Amino acid sequence: MSKKLHLVSLGCTKNLIDSEVMLGRLQEYEIVNEGTDADVIIVNTCGFIDAAKEESIQTILNLHEERKEDSLLVMSGCLSERYKEELQKDLKEVDIFTGVGDYDRIDELIKLKQNRFSPKSYLIKNEERVITGSNYHAYIKLSEGCNQQCSFCAIPQFKGKLQSRALDSVVEEVTKLVSKGFYDFSFISQDSSSYLRDFEIKDGLIELISAIEKIEGITSARILYLYPSTLSDAVLEKIIDSKIFHNYFDMPIQHISDNLLRIMRRGSGTDVIKHQLAIMRNAPDSFVRTSIIAGHPGEREKDFEELVEFLKEFHFDRINVFAYSDEEGTKAKTMEDKIPLEVVEKRIAILNEIIEEQTIESLQKEIGKEIEIIAQGESSEHEYFVAAKKAIWAEDIDGEILINDNELEGEIEFGKSYIALIEEIAGDKLVGKIIRES
Ligand code: SF4
Repeated sequence: MSKKLHLVSLGCTKNLIDSEVMLGRLQEYEIVNEGTDADVIIVNTCGFIDAAKEESIQTILNLHEERKEDSLLVMSGCLSERYKEELQKDLKEVDIFTGVGDYDRIDELIKLKQNRFSPKSYLIKNEERVITGSNYHAYIKLSEGCNQQCSFCAIPQFKGKLQSRALDSVVEEVTKLVSKGFYDFSFISQDSSSYLRDFEIKDGLIELISAIEKIEGITSARILYLYPSTLSDAVLEKIIDSKIFHNYFDMPIQHISDNLLRIMRRGSGTDVIKHQLAIMRNAPDSFVRTSIIAGHPGEREKDFEELVEFLKEFHFDRINVFAYSDEEGTKAKTMEDKIPLEVVEKRIAILNEIIEEQTIESLQKEIGKEIEIIAQGESSEHEYFVAAKKAIWAEDIDGEILINDNELEGEIEFGKSYIALIEEIAGDKLVGKIIRES
């Protein structure tokens, strides 16, 4: 059943042209003459003279009276542009206010809002969460499910198709948490770069970043689980330009050989992944994390060598490595070209050696630097140390810094950010002292 649109164009012919542009963007809708059974009602307003203003507002109120539940009422045009702030306060009947510059993205604005009303957006209710383990950081879920078809993964089977959470709902949850003192957020999902694709919005992360940046009080954010074939350069640039989002890039590549990427059904080849990783690595103070699978069916010796060579050349800050294992219901389980266990174990050992070396190298780069850290609490290593993390790092994932001295007067406050001088490395942990407030 097609969705229905009722559009009222008030004012001059200029407005009519703008209305036609909107209709052009909304061709999937059936145009109806009455607002009563429309799914979307647009009033393209005129604010030229008082009588026109009154007509615009009266039209909106009349349409609201009779519209069906869950329909969207959109106010666009000159009046909405001129008095947007006042109208937003007074005209609660309207769901979307848009001015004169958004006619050609009206479809996008409607989709974003419909997402809020969509019955599949089960996350919109924003059930009150009690954040455990931190008084400053929270993980925020962007979506459930996944539309990818990775050969080795059973997640789409039990989590279902991608279901993005409404942007409004994400913003609402973050705003509430900021009002409780949280200032650092990690946005997560199975494939974060697909966020809002189920609403035909290609780069939903750009919308997310813009919306989150407007929340006063949030100072630190990162996005986890980028997926190569749904990640665009525009999203990477948006992250790099952001004052709030760190240059923190977590993109599980799983492999680098074209042959394996194809067998794994990852949707992107070597060149695309290398291009994306180069952008990430060249971003100022960037931190690049990935994960790799060793021993996937069909992984030839030369594929593995290509992987090793690439890892040695690229130098990730952190890598998780997994030995391939058959998972019920996956494509890979049915593949014939399985790798013997002893070969998988040998490959894992080689990768682990590289990873250990590179993690230490990444940590060693911090020695002698003054870096922003967040004091987290007493260290489990020893009560003498305070546990901290580098501000860019994801909570509980990228490591621990041991703070052994404090040059400030007064106690170190847990959950607060400071500048620390990193002096040495002990095992796989950095050791440093707090030298000033951040
Ligand atoms: S590995 Fe990640 S992206 Fe691939 S199917 Fe599983 S959940 Fe989706």
